[in-house]
Amino acid sequence: MHYAETLDALREQRLLRLCEVPESGLVNFSSNDYLGLAKDERLKQAAIEALEKEGTGASASRLITGTSQRVTDLEKELARWHGTEAALVFNSGYQGNLAILQGILNTGDWVFADRLNHASLVDGCLLSKAKLVRYSHLDLDDLEHKLSKAPVEATKWIITDALFSMDGDSPDFDKWVAIAEGYRANTLIDEAHSVGLYGNTSAGLCEQFNIGSQVTLQAGTFSKALGGFGGFVCGSNVLIQTLVNQARGFIYSTALPPAVIGSAQAAVTIVQADTALHEALWHNVTVFRNALKTLNLPVTTYESAIIPVIIGDADHALQVSEKLRQAGFIVRAIRPPTVPTGTARLRISITPAHRPEELTALANTLASILHR
Ligand SMILES: *Cc1c(COP(=O)(O)O)cnc(C)c1O
Repeated sequence: MHYAETLDALREQRLLRLCEVPESGLVNFSSNDYLGLAKDERLKQAAIEALEKEGTGASASRLITGTSQRVTDLEKELARWHGTEAALVFNSGYQGNLAILQGILNTGDWVFADRLNHASLVDGCLLSKAKLVRYSHLDLDDLEHKLSKAPVEATKWIITDALFSMDGDSPDFDKWVAIAEGYRANTLIDEAHSVGLYGNTSAGLCEQFNIGSQVTLQAGTFSKALGGFGGFVCGSNVLIQTLVNQARGFIYSTALPPAVIGSAQAAVTIVQADTALHEALWHNVTVFRNALKTLNLPVTTYESAIIPVIIGDADHALQVSEKLRQAGFIVRAIRPPTVPTGTARLRISITPAHRPEELTALANTLASILHR
């Protein structure tokens, strides 16, 4: 049995991971609930209503009897919202990406993926039979160079996170879609950390950069800014039907429970209309960024609710995280392999629920720890 030794080695390198219950009474800066919707009364009520009407479980997979009117309504709304012909809901964002990539990529296809894409996109590519080529993070010259080496006749897909959740950065979308068009490549953009947050109706960065019609598939999750659970993808009828017929993660799993779909419906409605939540979020982001700048702490140039503070060494990152905990803040250290070796970091995420004094207190504490 080598498992115990492997765990010991991880512990020694300070890379062992544990499931810890966050201490109550601390201010949470490590949540992906960017709009605070996970505790919103409107979402709770929608979930309760759906549960009361339809019960706790969907009782079967989507292709048997698990397709409710509620989930088809949600899919129609997702498609309308994203300006696509169709949409499909998955049991999580992770499972959705595996299912999508396994379902659309065939032997002989080439898939080009940003080197820092989310694990679910990487795993989906590996699960497929396509040839996987990874290009340097956000490096579109490298992408183009690698595309130019693929056979002209091969079906090609280019895949990226819309907003990279460990840095808060994004590709140059206009250039990215232009390159894809030049090589007649299909595209998948994963809006996990951007849906609900960007664009006129909060559909995501594809909406903000007005590239939705040029992108083949837009994927997302209900589990972050939308405050619930489950994944989805929006695209053409042909591709959605292909997934319904070929995506094993979609076919062979029980449909999401009614309460989960109910809260997703409410969230989708709310983020399109409730501008106050967004204003509160961006106001808090600005307050925190300004506090960091005043204290001479490094601030990323990207306007995002995710603010990484790169520490480098995994052990050091854990120590800073622990000191912040003692000061009353939950700021988890993010270590390899989630981020590249030598770039362990604190990942601070801001929400509308943070009070101004909490934001400045975190910045001050961070400054005193790091400048010491
Ligand atoms: C979080 C995340 C996922 C997974 O979504 P879940 O609904 O949490 O499973 C997929 N893609 C990206 C880019 C993510 O950040």
